[in-house]
Amino acid sequence: MKVHILLGPPGCGKGTTAKQLVGEFTLTHLSTGDILRDAVSKGTEIGLRAKAIMAAGKLVDDDTVNGLVFARLQGETHDVLFDGYPRTLQQAQALGTFLSSQAIETGLVVDIEVPENVLEARVVGRRVCSNNDCGAIYHLQNKPPKVENICDKCGSPLKHRADDSSEAFKSRMAEFNATFQPMVDFYRGGKHYRLVDGNNTPDKVFVTVSKLFKENA
Ligand code: AMP
Repeated sequence: MKVHILLGPPGCGKGTTAKQLVGEFTLTHLSTGDILRDAVSKGTEIGLRAKAIMAAGKLVDDDTVNGLVFARLQGETHDVLFDGYPRTLQQAQALGTFLSSQAIETGLVVDIEVPENVLEARVVGRRVCSNNDCGAIYHLQNKPPKVENICDKCGSPLKHRADDSSEAFKSRMAEFNATFQPMVDFYRGGKHYRLVDGNNTPDKVFVTVSKLFKENA
């Protein structure tokens, strides 16, 4: 079993690319954002703590997120694809220590680069399926659903994430800019790291990333 990582700012296409990869390769998709949103909607103890932090576009504390991730890795047999994790140097270091302790290999670390001025429009126009088991991702202009506000895949209503407002996006970008460089420096220069141009259509980004996965199989 290997652990692959998708890195990049909010709106760079991590979630969309991850869903496409899972359709093509045998991978378990672990999005810490999805895990936390699920905890919020279920009203668990972690969810109650995380709700306001997430709505404000801040990061949930490292120990909480690491704990959720390590619990999900226990007993996993398929290769895992992380989306939205790690997000800080502390998370990257803790993950490295955990993987070594379990003799789990690191696969690809794919860094999806998109200029900051493109990201806000992507995030503000993003709509997601309200059915967590589906979670399909749309965009009002770039990828509208066939029927307004209804998921093409499962027929559930679409929703606008609380943290996809313009205001929360600015806060998320500030968090990203403060934490991303030290974290990515941890991987950059290493044999697993690949930088990908994400300022393209989802299908073109997917072709590039899936080629990397085929080469790495
Ligand atoms: P995402 O769906 O990846 O955009 O994540 C949505 C929100 O969940 C983030 O803005 C954070 O509040 C929280 N979150 C997700 N992943 C992490 C992480 N690795 N560390 C801390 N907070 C996270």
